[in-house]
Amino acid sequence: MQPNYSSNYTPNSAPVPEGTIIVERGVSAQEFGPKLNRTAADVIRFLMQNGEMVTATMTLSDEQMELFALEVGADLLLVEPGQQEEMELQALFDDSDDDDETLQESRPPVITVMGHVDHGKTTLLDRIRNANVVAGEAGGITQHIGAYQVDVRGRKITFLDTPGHAAFTKMRARGAQVTDIVILMVAADDGVMPQTIEAINHAKAAEVPIVVALNKVDKENADPQRVLSQLAEHELVPESWGGDTIVVEMAAQQGLGIDEILDQLLLVAELEELTANPTGRAKGVVLEANLDVGRGPVATVLVDKGELNVGDPIVAGAAWGRVRAMINDKGEQVKTAGPSTPVQVLGLQSVPNAGDEFRSAADEKTARTVGEAREQRQRLKAQRGDARVQKGVKLEDIFSQIQAGEVATLNLVLKADVQGSLEAVTEALRRLERDEVKLAFVHRGVGGITENDISLAATTNATLIGFNVRPDRKARDMADAEGVEIRTYEIIYKLLEDIERAMVGMLAPEFEEVVTGEAEVREIFRVPRIGAIAGCYVRSGTITRGSKVRFLRDGAIIWKGAIQSLKRFKEDAREVREGFECGIGLTDFQDLRQGDLIETFEEREIARV
Ligand code: GDP
Repeated sequence: MQPNYSSNYTPNSAPVPEGTIIVERGVSAQEFGPKLNRTAADVIRFLMQNGEMVTATMTLSDEQMELFALEVGADLLLVEPGQQEEMELQALFDDSDDDDETLQESRPPVITVMGHVDHGKTTLLDRIRNANVVAGEAGGITQHIGAYQVDVRGRKITFLDTPGHAAFTKMRARGAQVTDIVILMVAADDGVMPQTIEAINHAKAAEVPIVVALNKVDKENADPQRVLSQLAEHELVPESWGGDTIVVEMAAQQGLGIDEILDQLLLVAELEELTANPTGRAKGVVLEANLDVGRGPVATVLVDKGELNVGDPIVAGAAWGRVRAMINDKGEQVKTAGPSTPVQVLGLQSVPNAGDEFRSAADEKTARTVGEAREQRQRLKAQRGDARVQKGVKLEDIFSQIQAGEVATLNLVLKADVQGSLEAVTEALRRLERDEVKLAFVHRGVGGITENDISLAATTNATLIGFNVRPDRKARDMADAEGVEIRTYEIIYKLLEDIERAMVGMLAPEFEEVVTGEAEVREIFRVPRIGAIAGCYVRSGTITRGSKVRFLRDGAIIWKGAIQSLKRFKEDAREVREGFECGIGLTDFQDLRQGDLIETFEEREIARV
């Protein structure tokens, strides 16, 4: 469609540069004009004639830049700040073979095992690996490098051997997707548990196919049918029920069902048509990296495509170097590694981050240039203090999105104290949905807010909502570091009110609750006429008499009130600091248990700017 704007302005007639002009968002007319061989005045005059008042130093909007580019006949590509530099760096690598169909060959699938704790993930990974060592070279010594590859009748499968969600989300948080298929481990006696649901949601968010390993069928109290119906509730309908989820019954400990699950993985891999060009320069992902006293920086990498060779100059994130040696999962030195192969690489000048992309470069100079440029950028960023990228979609931003005429999708991770309140809150939130505001529950679960929730929220730009539950300290720290917004509520209507207000751009001044101290209940004393006194250890901060407290059991809030008495030994104390023991008496609350947590907090109003 031809935009409707006035074009009586005649810009100077110098030719615009040929080809696509890349411009980073956030520039002013002063910076933008010259890129198109025009002056700032050209840009300002043209925009003014079209009713847009801008000055030379004001940031231009996408539309303003696109309008002007159209006017002068320039081919414009707008990118995010920092992206242009990265594109220029990437251009130093030759990717021309990437799309060449004739060079694509099938590659081994890369598998991650996920599931609830104790459902048998480690047992399965060990079984598969050991079976293969015996079948393979006799006496082969396995080496834990973070991943391993097995041979199934001439076809290979790669397993990431750090089970669990943390590894998976850590990769995704950095934009790397290494897993092709997820094995979801569910113990037949225990059934679908909170971490099972988390795993399902992680895999769904990443759009990775799931193969269910229904483990421990040997156990007396195993109830596979019950588990199947639980899975169906989470949209994993087993094939035997007419769905398309592959379920393999197994007993990992006894080695039952191992062959079958390997076969199923190969089948899914075939359907997924996993291919890569095995020739040319290598590209892949860093799985783990550390500084080894004797060997210097050591990185385990997984090759995506191409061929990594000893002697290749490489860049991994901001680290660069030349591959001095490579060691495979059997502890053997190898000279070359192809697609889906994990190897330890020696020879980098510094330690890259897990999740960083690596590439082999044409020559060492290129590797060095790119590595050093990235390193410098990281340093500058850190100095400017914006190293912490704000990723969580702020509730406050909904309104501006709606105003911009876009459909605002609010991603949510919701945690609640019990199933009943989880359902109630979900339903209430659903009723707030309208055409212009969609809610997407990335994850819903019962229990305290953990690091897992934070990492899921970080990777999906979600706001984390806790209902009658609190984050533990690790989760709080991680949320700060990842820029994830946690909002906790104890009353449904307050939560709904906040979301509704956000939708109309009137999010009330927020009272931020600052946790001032944390004490763990270690002993309980019953004092006649006074009641229960909690013998506590102050884990962090300061506990002050009279301050407001929340009483937490397994992350859920079970009582709220104030500290009535505070004693150090027999003496009354006004405050007790971290690392000390104390006795805490609470008004009206007697149901103390060992291991409970007492959290003191203050409310401070956050000034909005
Ligand atoms: P993870 O936490 O998921 O890695 O679970 P583990 O692999 O550590 O297994 C937890 C426990 O379950 C261990 O004591 C295993 O020996 C046991 N286990 C694993 N698989 C089976 C199985 O198929 N049958 C039975 N009966 N026990 C199993």
